[in-house]
Amino acid sequence: MTRVMFRNAMIWDGTGADAFPADLLVDNGRIVTIARTPGQLSGEGATTVECRGMTLMPGLVEGHAHISFGGAIKDSDLGLIPPEEHLLLTMRNAKTLLDHGFTSAYSAATSKLRLDIVIRNEINAGRLPGPRMRAGSPEITVTGGLGDERQQHMYHESFGMIADGIEEITKAVRLCCREGADNIKINISGDDLSPAAHGGLTVMSEAEVMTAVSVARDFGKKINCHARAAGSVKRAVKCGVDVIYHCESADEEALDALESAKDRIFVGPAIGIIYGTLYEGEPFGFTHEMAVKFGMQRILDDSRKVYTELRKRGVRALIGGDYGFAQTPQGTNARDLKHFVDLLGYSPSEALQCGTRLGGQVMGLGDELGMVKEGFIADLLLVNGDPLKDLDMMVHEKNLIVIMKDGELYKDQSASVASQRQAA
Ligand SMILES: [Zn+2]
Repeated sequence: MTRVMFRNAMIWDGTGADAFPADLLVDNGRIVTIARTPGQLSGEGATTVECRGMTLMPGLVEGHAHISFGGAIKDSDLGLIPPEEHLLLTMRNAKTLLDHGFTSAYSAATSKLRLDIVIRNEINAGRLPGPRMRAGSPEITVTGGLGDERQQHMYHESFGMIADGIEEITKAVRLCCREGADNIKINISGDDLSPAAHGGLTVMSEAEVMTAVSVARDFGKKINCHARAAGSVKRAVKCGVDVIYHCESADEEALDALESAKDRIFVGPAIGIIYGTLYEGEPFGFTHEMAVKFGMQRILDDSRKVYTELRKRGVRALIGGDYGFAQTPQGTNARDLKHFVDLLGYSPSEALQCGTRLGGQVMGLGDELGMVKEGFIADLLLVNGDPLKDLDMMVHEKNLIVIMKDGELYKDQSASVASQRQAA
């Protein structure tokens, strides 16, 4: 295990406190010492990283990861990818996420049952680069729900695993647990681009949701859901779902329900895809006009209202904007930080906490991941500048001078930055 000394850093620790100057020692995968008086800490036997002018912060956590998604325009595109190519695509995406500062990924869902699982296993075994992962299940959905692309006369694959009624839902969840998923995904509401069930419809019954949650609990798994309609948000809270994505149509009653469960649940607006479809979808066939017609402007406006309210009420939100579609390429995931500020009204510090400290919590590791604290897992980024002044810098690989995962230096360009400074 590597021993690494970060010298003269400005540390933004993820708590929301201002950054402070310090030296920091990593040993055996953990942050061992943070010395607020620089120059006092002995770095004997340690690799030294000179951090002057740079910010040391927790690694980012993607809170709505779809690492098996890549470049899809329509949901059904994912179903067309053969398993062999799909595995390679997922492998490349895992590396892309780590290259862009995401040291952890909480999967919202996978598009074929074992893709997340095998990649997680390979990463954990040290055979592939990628973030620490909680692997997702496919999106368990009812006939006619989001992810059911079949036609009466013809079968079509998608990212959905279709199950109806208590027995089929039970079996689907158990199957995902048997294969090794960490997070189970259910689609309670429809979606605006879905042919049969639009986003305002709540199509998975309460008995089905209750069953999915209870079986996931039996196996010790977390459970996520797709919930746009107010009714689906209320159903998710009532039945005990852990992570409730979207929520933009939450009414007063749904907001109260979310608030009442705020110590247990997380929400995620997944705003990147909405922004991408509205403003950057043209090369992929989504004109702005079409996107508005499909409801994207309404979702954006509603999200702004709902997440302003949720933020005030202290409900924990995660970054992660459905990156992995054509208009939201993998590797641009950190754009969600700025979207939280520009579109949803978060402060830069709050947005960064959604992408670090709260991410550690949703990973189930809140007391050892997501902050720069003594004893915590050493997942760290050294950023060339002050991300609180310019969140955009987090999106560009060149600004991530050091990427450390589990105390190991995955990327270290600090020496070349130091020599450039000397030359200048
Ligand atoms: Zn998603």
